[in-house]
Amino acid sequence: MNTSWRNQAACQGLDPTVFYPSPDDDVEAEPAKGVCSTCSVREACLEHALAVREKDGVWGGCTERERRRIIRQRRRTA
Ligand code: SF4
Repeated sequence: MNTSWRNQAACQGLDPTVFYPSPDDDVEAEPAKGVCSTCSVREACLEHALAVREKDGVWGGCTERERRRIIRQRRRTA
């Protein structure tokens, strides 16, 4: 899997705990989502998290619950 997108991650060097809010806490996830919204590799990051079934944290601007929703929607439309 190509993970070169990580080199352009907007979250590089930031406190990683910001990206691991309490599970499904939408308010606590906002700072991380704000960083992700400015990230040029957001799509690649999200697809990576979906592909490896990343369980924890905010990836590609999506929380764990949001990623589960995307996976369900894709299964329905597959
Ligand atoms: S989308 Fe968010 S978590 Fe993913 S690389 Fe960019 S800043 Fe980091």
